Amino acid sequence: MKQYAVIGLGRFGFSIATTLYSMGHDVLVIDKDEEKIQEISDLVTHAIQADATDETVLKAVGIRNFDVVAVTIGSDIQASILVTLLCKEQGVNYVVAKAQNELHAKVLYKVGADKVILPEHDMGLRVAHNLVSSNILDYIELDPNYSVVEIEVIPKWIDKTLKQLDLRAKYGVNVMAIKHGDNINISPGGNDMINQGDILVVIGKNKDIERIEKESQKF
Ligand code: ATP
Repeated sequence: MKQYAVIGLGRFGFSIATTLYSMGHDVLVIDKDEEKIQEISDLVTHAIQADATDETVLKAVGIRNFDVVAVTIGSDIQASILVTLLCKEQGVNYVVAKAQNELHAKVLYKVGADKVILPEHDMGLRVAHNLVSSNILDYIELDPNYSVVEIEVIPKWIDKTLKQLDLRAKYGVNVMAIKHGDNINISPGGNDMINQGDILVVIGKNKDIERIEKESQKF
């Protein structure tokens, strides 16, 4: 079982910590606010009230033994950077940190964060794509040029095989999975048929995905 630590219990950190715990994982949380610690104490494995910028605190809880540490301190940018740095210095394998803005994200990567999340930016992006084309159910930006999207099939794709659709040649994207109700085909082949209501999980360049988005607006 993996060991997780979540530092900073804003809405984002709270949600990560309690979800991981409800999924059966060991979760340690640290927050300097006693009320937050009391609120979460029955919903995680260990809840510690402390200032995580204090190196001795991180050493005392044995932070280096955790597989993943989420630094979800929000508004105190200085604290978020310092805690991320200390976790990496102490040897935490994977640190995911929450950033307020692009500049904050840049600094977090510089001090060693393995992954930086901008929750408002990421969610805004997903919602915008869904607003433009209701067929786009989810949109995950992998980097500035590539994304993974979930697309509800558009009518002209129905009852065709992947080979017939040839999305790779037409749009330059790859279909990674086909969701059909509760079933997910994670290694779709050319002969797999697209049915009404199916959802395709597609990876590709943003500009190629945009072409599909435009196409699906017509329906
Ligand atoms: P969200 O948007 O997720 O609700 P936020 O971005 O507004 O959160 P904050 O409320 O600023 O985030 O901070 C999240 C939590 O981090 C707070 O509960 C705060 O007490 C805690 N926190 C801030 N600095 C430290 C620190 N040095 N050590 C431990 N906890 C801290």
